[in-house]
Amino acid sequence: MAIQCAHCKSYACRAGRIDAAPESCPMQRGTFPGFEELYSSEERRRMAYEAARIEAEGYCRWTRIREVLEFARRMGYTRLGIAHCADTAKLAARAAEYLSGEGIDTRVPPRSECCDPREQADFLSRSATDLNLICGMSIAHEAIFIRESDAPVTTLVARDARLGHNPVAALYTSNSYYRSALFERDRGGEKKGLEGSGNELLERIALEVQEAAGNDWCRVVEAMEVARRLGATHIGVTFCVGFRNEADRLVRVLEANGFRVTSACCKTGAVPKEQLGIQDSEKVSPGQPEMICNPIAQAELLNREDVEITLLLGQCVGHDTATMANLDSPAACLVVKDRVMAHNTAAALERPDD
Ligand code: SF4
Repeated sequence: MAIQCAHCKSYACRAGRIDAAPESCPMQRGTFPGFEELYSSEERRRMAYEAARIEAEGYCRWTRIREVLEFARRMGYTRLGIAHCADTAKLAARAAEYLSGEGIDTRVPPRSECCDPREQADFLSRSATDLNLICGMSIAHEAIFIRESDAPVTTLVARDARLGHNPVAALYTSNSYYRSALFERDRGGEKKGLEGSGNELLERIALEVQEAAGNDWCRVVEAMEVARRLGATHIGVTFCVGFRNEADRLVRVLEANGFRVTSACCKTGAVPKEQLGIQDSEKVSPGQPEMICNPIAQAELLNREDVEITLLLGQCVGHDTATMANLDSPAACLVVKDRVMAHNTAAALERPDD
């Protein structure tokens, strides 16, 4: 039975109720990836721990870029790289300005390299960055950059030139303004089956998509086009439980466009935060049972199902990093979470005179 957390009716994992999970739940299978095994390395555990503390401390108060700053400080990352697209160079410069002002050594690839994700990854490797941020890249370029980056990666801005870098707007209006763009598209014939997912193919697809659409496609449509041109029929979705409504909409859109989808919620595994060493006072809601976000299990579940491309939806800083690092398939972030800016992370970097 397919793993489809996005259509779950109970979200029993969130309350730690494995017994109340639906029959199709991955937790009902005897082979669910074990917490101790997945988080056996010191770095993986620390990343999960710090990401959980940042979520609680900054909940609905810190913008995404502030969360990135906190994550870097707590992980001991002193040098950050910022990859970007030509048309998000100004946002990348603003992010660098903010982080530099907070004492972080920040490296931005030169403009001459900004359309080549491999060159950007190479530049940042030579700069010996500890963490790389993606500040607005196309889906295919982002997938290449994530694969090529030596340092761990988190996303700051999900590029969507059509929607002002606020891609979640397409999901919020999927039953109104964006209905025809998302549900009534020409699907370009039958799915072909995966042709490969190497960097050269992704490069070619990035160019094709840019030529075909310019800035007319929103990021959700762009993601489907990249998947279709890869020949992918099976898409993976990892999502934050706070994005469950958006995940349900996204999966319905993908299914309506003929894709098979496997989706994994962050609370899968129902592991109490105490098991990660989180104190009660460090929870989002002290005094309540809270489960950890389980980004490596999300990746592992999708790997086991052999998804062909993965889209990340609204995962926290650090949780997205861990998912990206453990996925077998090419991946890109579809929506970056920012509870303060209604998920428009770019808005925090823009100025009135822009
Ligand atoms: S792991 Fe997925 S299917 Fe199971 S309870 Fe949680 S959301 Fe539902």
